[in-house]
Amino acid sequence: MLNKFDIIVFDIDGTLTRSKLPLDSEMAALLCRLMEKYRVAIISGAGYEQFKWQILDNLSCLPEKMKNLYLLPTDGTVFCRYEDGWQCRHDAPLPQEEKERIRAAFGNIFEESGFERPDKIYGELVEDRGAQLNFSALGQDAPIELKEKWDPDNKKRTQMAEVLKHTLPDFSIRIGGTTSIEVTRVGVDKAYGLNKLIEQTGILKENILYVGDKLFKGGNDEPVLTLGITCRTVPNPEETKTVILEFLGQN
Ligand SMILES: [Mg+2]
Repeated sequence: MLNKFDIIVFDIDGTLTRSKLPLDSEMAALLCRLMEKYRVAIISGAGYEQFKWQILDNLSCLPEKMKNLYLLPTDGTVFCRYEDGWQCRHDAPLPQEEKERIRAAFGNIFEESGFERPDKIYGELVEDRGAQLNFSALGQDAPIELKEKWDPDNKKRTQMAEVLKHTLPDFSIRIGGTTSIEVTRVGVDKAYGLNKLIEQTGILKENILYVGDKLFKGGNDEPVLTLGITCRTVPNPEETKTVILEFLGQN
């Protein structure tokens, strides 16, 4: 039964786009078509600025269709809906002293988890996203080709996350993107974001479908599984296109 769903929720990196690349035109067109029939939500650990250049700048659906789209940057600590432009509400950011503790924990993470520090870090190693700090092993601006080679099986980051669990036992630590580790307060994750979506839209859990690439243990989509909503794992954006086409073919 495909059409019991009212809202389809997508992760960004690895699901709608390759890691930190813009939405391609085919995916943009598919999303606009999907928004004629379903409400759509997009949730990611990424901040609003990244949603803008990765998604919104490449999406040219009619404004009345945009009303069927919800954005949940930084795991839904920001919630945005379209009413004469995008209107976003923000949760409070992490306090400064917590941010400093997290940065310190990443200071010698390579050595402590038994890996060599990369020769070159492209841009910031740890990005401040308000309610989340985001570590990118090769830096936030590293070329996609390098990033996709660095930890394709997630093994390096699984090991790093184990080390971090000891230094930051009171935070939530998850693997995201291709080289990223996301740190938030405990309880701030995609399940938190989806609960906010449920609360803000009044949608029923059984009418939600979630589509993501990291539903495995330790992955940043895994918390969604605790909600008991229907989930689909996709290995890459091409498979997401197939999922969308299934839904477009149904009605
Ligand atoms: Mg992903």
